[in-house]
Amino acid sequence: MSEKITLPPISYTGWGSLSHLLEEVERLNAKKILVITDPFLKDIGITNKVVDPLVESGYSTEIYTDVVPEPPLAIGEKLVAYTRKNAFDLVIGLGGGSALDLSKLAGVLASNEGKVADYLNLTGTKKVTKKGIPTILIPTTSGTGSEVTNISVLSLETTKDVITHDYLLADVAIVDPALTISLPPKVTAATGVDALTHAIESYISKNATPVSDALALQAIRLISNSIRQAVFNGEDKQARTDMSYGSYLAGLAFFNAGVAGVHALAYPLGGQFHIAHGDSNAVLLPYVMGYIRPSCEKRMKDIYVAMGFSSANLSQKEASYKCVAELKRLVEDVNIPSTLKGFNITVDVLDSLTTDALGQKRILTRSPMPLLKEDIYTIYKAAYDGVIIEK
Ligand code: NAD
Repeated sequence: MSEKITLPPISYTGWGSLSHLLEEVERLNAKKILVITDPFLKDIGITNKVVDPLVESGYSTEIYTDVVPEPPLAIGEKLVAYTRKNAFDLVIGLGGGSALDLSKLAGVLASNEGKVADYLNLTGTKKVTKKGIPTILIPTTSGTGSEVTNISVLSLETTKDVITHDYLLADVAIVDPALTISLPPKVTAATGVDALTHAIESYISKNATPVSDALALQAIRLISNSIRQAVFNGEDKQARTDMSYGSYLAGLAFFNAGVAGVHALAYPLGGQFHIAHGDSNAVLLPYVMGYIRPSCEKRMKDIYVAMGFSSANLSQKEASYKCVAELKRLVEDVNIPSTLKGFNITVDVLDSLTTDALGQKRILTRSPMPLLKEDIYTIYKAAYDGVIIEK
């Protein structure tokens, strides 16, 4: 058996890696640059760290800030129309996954015709055929891994969908933990558990390979050992650095192995109730893992060990149960509600959540345990009640 492994061409990682921006802009021969970022990052001065050196070096630079968290399709359509009207030759995305995903769209659809909606994975009819304009992605959260994936996520009315093609891969990723110091505890927690979920779901994915396993396990080690410190002491350089490497590695892992049940059930929570992506994953993580535990006992033992616990004197089964308990504890420790009730979800919406989650077929196929309608409903109900149930 063989498998395809895709890695983005160039990444700079580590504290201070933003200093490599200018040399990359020069190498890409840019003249007219579009910087896509969210308005809050402009207000707090992070955008200046990117834009000032460009302007001082004589580059024509425009800042676009019509970016909202969990961007809806309409925001994407507007941005793409704007990009097509102006002849930019480089897109720089700066921000969390929301700004980065929009930047990928702007870059690639500048050269491909049609609406953004035409390219959606579940309902679209068009395929990306041309490489877009070069893109540099600079994350300011340690979460999505968007800087190294070929995916752009958009919010639809009741769920989410993606546009995915290797032409959405950034030419350069710059992953500088210094840019995450200002992240408030709540966002650090949500984005951090998002990254942890990427690593865990990659590790148990049916498409996992020895390459994605190595990336995922190291991501789990780094994130589970630094997330509490990053949340409660945001100035801690080492914790921020570990979270940054962890989310980067988790991004590479899930880009190659894919995510599964947690994400499939999380998308409708984001779509219907506008719960932040990281929170949606976090509230479901222990319940999905608890439910599918019998299908991936050995791998859950590995996750438990990667989280820093000893499995000596434990059977595989015992370690896998402890893994589920530790995941729940981690979510609670970083102050994310660990039940759907905690997000004001009422029991009457579990049916419509189930229907929308079932639509995420691409993602569900990677689950080590097939998840059918009744399984999905049972998991939502478990997350609603706060009681872990297994199949
Ligand atoms: P986000 O980009 O929505 O940002 C969340 C909030 O954090 C915003 O209010 C933003 O202003 C603030 N913020 C960001 N960086 C900051 C900083 N350094 N200091 C202070 N505040 C800061 O959050 P996110 O979780 O990074 O991205 C979520 C989006 O990414 C969702 O749409 C999700 O579906 C998508 N996503 C994409 C991928 C992918 O591979 N493309 C993977 C997972 C999730």
